[in-house]
Amino acid sequence: MPINQKSKKIVILGAGFSGLYALKSIYRHVKNWPEFDISIVDKNNYFVFTPLLHEVATGGIDPADIVFPIRDLAKGQTEHVEAEVLSVDLLKKSVITSRGEISYDYLIAALGAGTNFFGVPGASENSFTLKNIKDATRLKNHLIHLFDEANGEKDPERQKDILRIIIIGGGATGVELGAEIHEFLKEINKEYPAISSDAVEFFLVEASEKLLSIFHQSFSEKVLKILESKGFKIIFKDPCAEVTEQGIVCASGKTIKSRTVIWTSGVSPSPIITTPDIPRQKGRIVVEPSLNLKDFPEVFVLGDQAAVADKKFGLLPTSAQVAAEEGNFVGKNIARLILGQPLKHFQYFHKGDLVSIGKWKALAQMGSGFLKFDGPVAWLIWRFNYLTKMPGTAKKIRLFFDWILYFASKRDISEI
Ligand SMILES: Cc1cc2nc3c(=O)[nH]c(=O)nc-3n(C[C@H](O)[C@H](O)[C@H](O)COP(=O)(O)OP(=O)(O)OC[C@H]3O[C@@H](n4cnc5c(N)ncnc54)[C@H](O)[C@@H]3O)c2cc1C
Repeated sequence: MPINQKSKKIVILGAGFSGLYALKSIYRHVKNWPEFDISIVDKNNYFVFTPLLHEVATGGIDPADIVFPIRDLAKGQTEHVEAEVLSVDLLKKSVITSRGEISYDYLIAALGAGTNFFGVPGASENSFTLKNIKDATRLKNHLIHLFDEANGEKDPERQKDILRIIIIGGGATGVELGAEIHEFLKEINKEYPAISSDAVEFFLVEASEKLLSIFHQSFSEKVLKILESKGFKIIFKDPCAEVTEQGIVCASGKTIKSRTVIWTSGVSPSPIITTPDIPRQKGRIVVEPSLNLKDFPEVFVLGDQAAVADKKFGLLPTSAQVAAEEGNFVGKNIARLILGQPLKHFQYFHKGDLVSIGKWKALAQMGSGFLKFDGPVAWLIWRFNYLTKMPGTAKKIRLFFDWILYFASKRDISEI
C-alpha cells in the first residue's frame, strides 16, 4: 500500500554509532524514505570513531582521520541540526534543543554516554578523560608538555613526580590507552637526553581482581604479563577513592603522586530528561525487546542510552558493536510501524572482542572466546576490522596511509 507521508517526520538524536547506523537502516528499510522529513540532531557536526581515539591522543594518527562530517552521511536529503538536545516531551512529541523545538512523528534517541566518576571526590575536576576529539587532543598536548616541564627540573625524584602516569580502569580503553601512552612517552623521551629512560612510571588501578573482564581468563592473564613487562605497576582491588591536584588516594589510604590521572572506567548514560519520566536501569532507558518504549511505541532508544535486556549479558554491554547492530535493526521496525505491522524483537549477535596493546600486540576473541588469537595476527585483524568500519572511502584511504606513516616515521609530538 503506497503511503503519502510527506508531512511525517523522523528525528534521530545523536550521530554516534547507533544514530549513524539507524540513519543508514532507515534509508535501507523505509522504502519511500525520501518522502519523509528526516532530521539528525547532534551538538557536533561530525561522527567520531571512538575506538581509535587513543591513537589520536598519542600522536599516531591525525584527529581528522577518525571524524566524518554528518552532512556527508546525510546524503544531502536529511537535515542535520547542530544543536544540544535539552529534553524530550513525549506527550507533545517534541524535542527541546538549544536551537528551539523540533516536533516528530517517530523518534530515535541515540545520545550515548559520558564518563561515570562513581562520585569519587575530585575525579571530574582533576582527571583526564577520553570520550571525544577534544579530550584526545588535550591529553596529547599535556603528555608532550610534561617532558618540557621535567626537562627544566634537575632533581630526578621531582622529574619522576612530573612524569608519573596513572590510568584508572583496567577495561579495554584503559589497557589500549595505557599501552599506547607507554610507547608514545618512550618515543618522546628519546628527544630529551637529560631525562633518564626510567623517569616515566606507569600505574594502572583496577577495582576488581582482573584486567579486561570481558575477555577469556587466559587473555586477562596475558595482558597483565604484557603490561608488567612494560613496567606498569598494576593495583587490583584497591580502587581510587579521591583524585587531587597532586595525585590519587586509594581506598586503602595509599597515595600516589601524579600530574596525570586518566579516568577510563565507567559510563554514565545521557541524562536527557523526558516528560513524563520513564523507567531507567543503571541510568539507561528501559526499552521493549523491539527497542521502543512501552507507552510511546513511536520512540526508539539505542546504544549506550538504552537498557536492553539480554539472556547472556543481563543488560547488553555499552559498546560500538551493540550500538551499530541496534542502529542497523531499527530501520526495519520503523518501517513496520509505519505500515502498521507487528514489530520484530532485536537479537544481539556478539561477534567477538578486540583490544590492541601497543604496536604489533593485540588480543582477539571470536564470540565468547571459542577462537582466540594474539600477537601480530590479532593486531592485523584489529587494524583491518577498524579500517573496514570507518565510514567513507576517502577516510579509509587517509587512515590507511597515516598508519603506514606511523610505522615508517616517528609519532607527531607537536603541541597544538
Ligand atoms: C575511547 C573509547 C574507545 C572505545 N572503544 C571501543 C571499541 O574498541 N569497541 C567497541 O565496541 N566500543 C568501544 N567504545 C564504546 C563505544 O564508543 C560506545 O559504546 C558507542 O559509541 C555507543 O554508541 P552510541 O550511539 O550510543 O553513542 P555515541 O557513539 O557516543 O554517540 C552519541 C552522539 O550523541 C551526541 N550527543 C550526546 N549528547 C548530546 C546532546 N545533549 N545534544 C546533542 N548531541 C548529543 C554526541 O555528540 C555523539 O555524536 C569506546 C568508547 C570510547 C570512549
